[in-house]
Amino acid sequence: MNQMWKGNYRRSVPKKAEKRRTLMTMGYKALVKVLDREFSLFVRLSAADNSGLVRCVTCNSIHFWKEAMTLGHYISRSHHSVRWNLRNVGAQCVRCNSYHGGEQHKMREHLISLHGEEAVKAVEALADMNKTETADTLREKVIEYRAKVKRLKREKGL
Ligand SMILES: [Zn+2]
Repeated sequence: MNQMWKGNYRRSVPKKAEKRRTLMTMGYKALVKVLDREFSLFVRLSAADNSGLVRCVTCNSIHFWKEAMTLGHYISRSHHSVRWNLRNVGAQCVRCNSYHGGEQHKMREHLISLHGEEAVKAVEALADMNKTETADTLREKVIEYRAKVKRLKREKGL
């Protein structure tokens, strides 16, 4: 196990204290992490059938929603104005998202087929503005997506 891998692994596991903190006391950075998790759960659950199987939007491979499936972004997550925009994301397998660098071109085609070219262009324009969110809007989104995730899990029995 090399040092780099260990470092990445540690960062991806939330600290216990962090988990216990309530939304109201969390700062922007902590809220980004929590919202990323809820938003990813929502997109993967939305795409899942009642057995929990999800098709990767860029290579069509099928995986269980909790294993080998990730949230892929067309425009990089560094653009917070579109980081949690449903027209900028899709359920993507680990191979496409990590090893193939997100397959940006294929992701764009997928989003156009789903939402239309105008919608994708609007997302691109929004990304260019690179507006950031506020802690308050992030909190609202966490609450919204937590409720949606809960409902989807119940509806699909997952
Ligand atoms: Zn894939």
